[in-house]
Amino acid sequence: MRKRFYRDRAVAECGLCGREIWPEEGFYQVNGEIFCRDCLERYAEQFFAGFFREGTV
Ligand SMILES: [Zn+2]
Repeated sequence: MRKRFYRDRAVAECGLCGREIWPEEGFYQVNGEIFCRDCLERYAEQFFAGFFREGTV
C-alpha cells in the first residue's frame, strides 16, 4: 500500500482550506489562486456571491 507515494511532494497548498494538494488529485488554478477540488463549491459561491439573488427576478 503506497497510497501516499508522493508524500513529500505535494504540488501546492489550497488557498482556501490550506491543505496540501497531491499531484494525483489535481487542483484548480484560477486567476493565480490555487485551490483543491473539495473547495470548488466554496470558491464558486464566493466568486459568484455578487450575482446571488433571492426571490423572483
Ligand atoms: Zn481546499
